[in-house]
Amino acid sequence: MSTSPATSPRVSPSNSGFDVVIAGGGVIGSAIAYFLAADAAFNGTVAVVEKDPSYATCSTTLSAASIRQQFSAAVNIAISQFGFAFFREVGRHLAVDGTAPDIGLVERGYLFLATPPGLETLRANHTVQRAANAPITWLDPPDLRARFPYLRTDDLAAGTYGEHGEGWYDAYSLLVAFRAKARSLGVTYLADEVVDVARAGPRIAAVGLRQGGRIACGTLVNAAGPRAAAIAAMAGLDLPVRPRKRFVFVFDCREPPRDLPLVIDPTGAYVRPEGTHFICGTSPPPDRDPDCLDFDVDYDLFDETLWPTLAHRIPAFEAIKLVRAWAGHYAYNTLDQNAILGPHPDVPNLLFANGFSGHGLQQSPAVGRGIAELIAHGAYRSLDLSPLGYDRILRNDPLVERNVV
Ligand SMILES: Cc1cc2nc3c(=O)[nH]c(=O)nc-3n(C[C@H](O)[C@H](O)[C@H](O)COP(=O)(O)OP(=O)(O)OC[C@H]3O[C@@H](n4cnc5c(N)ncnc54)[C@H](O)[C@@H]3O)c2cc1C
Repeated sequence: MSTSPATSPRVSPSNSGFDVVIAGGGVIGSAIAYFLAADAAFNGTVAVVEKDPSYATCSTTLSAASIRQQFSAAVNIAISQFGFAFFREVGRHLAVDGTAPDIGLVERGYLFLATPPGLETLRANHTVQRAANAPITWLDPPDLRARFPYLRTDDLAAGTYGEHGEGWYDAYSLLVAFRAKARSLGVTYLADEVVDVARAGPRIAAVGLRQGGRIACGTLVNAAGPRAAAIAAMAGLDLPVRPRKRFVFVFDCREPPRDLPLVIDPTGAYVRPEGTHFICGTSPPPDRDPDCLDFDVDYDLFDETLWPTLAHRIPAFEAIKLVRAWAGHYAYNTLDQNAILGPHPDVPNLLFANGFSGHGLQQSPAVGRGIAELIAHGAYRSLDLSPLGYDRILRNDPLVERNVV
């Protein structure tokens, strides 16, 4: 287990200072706030500074809100295993005054598909997943045809399917539940924007707010999503996290395939049911993926790439109607598309919880718990998240995750 800073020096619990200030109150900031406030070993004060309490444009509410165990890095598998267990019991964990939240969890697997060039990668990933006790079934083409008769399989070499512990849920409900529970446990939410970070030598001393004034802090947590690099820059630090636009398209199908899993085509395109509709998306090639903060939707991507790809894989999708679409932003870690967690080596009371790229929502329970443990206990106690530490950024040593969606 790695060690890291506790909260000292403490500041008095008043509006001018908090033991812990969390910049950003999306799902990550709110999960950290909840786990910290719920930790019996922590008796400090916590403020979450959130610039847009409507959450209209944050990553959380624009997410595809799915969870899988089918990663290739053991730490990501363990994070999602805890995440799914937490979601199953979310009503118990996050009930407030006897009212249990419902995040609409649907338990259904991801189906990763490979053509012959991708076969060895799929096999290597499956080996790691089985070693981590993830209930993932290997399916050769005849098995795929038997289980998913609506799939086109003649160009496929194999697939893997998650029997349990994968699925999807409602992102906004999860965020609201974390936030409400955190507030019920005494966390203060401030509707304001962090515009300045004041250092005293190697430590963070305070943050400045857009509406005026400063708050002293014992620990600052950067949970600013796609804007995380701006918070780091205010502290004089570089964080390789950039906003990258991703689209979600919603469509209707005349004769929908029944019980469709979350299908990941060998091209990387995905599709899953969402109520009576379907949602889908795909990542652009790296050379067509600029830093970007607008919300314009590229409908040509759907017409020219996504729809033909999905109709090839599932012929029933030849007869579909686009219902709506939206754009959101990944907090894209340009080194390895994985989370960056824990303290900066030179600034021990600044903790990162950033760079989740396309898998931060499902990681919120384990990351919330882990960052809370660092603050309350000075070390990870339940799950060692140190492979995701900032030091790998300094070493330019990527944590390879082959299953990025
Ligand atoms: C299209 C799309 C699909 C996705 N699909 C999935 C998926 O299927 N599964 C999955 O696990 N993940 C998915 N993700 C990723 C996931 O949504 C994110 O990783 C996760 O929501 C990150 O949460 P966050 O709290 O870090 O960021 P955010 O939700 O963006 O929250 C950050 C908050 O910080 C606030 N903020 C920023 N700067 C400041 C400041 N200076 N002062 C105060 N407040 C500030 C913002 O207003 C915002 O509310 C997807 C993302 C997108 C865009």
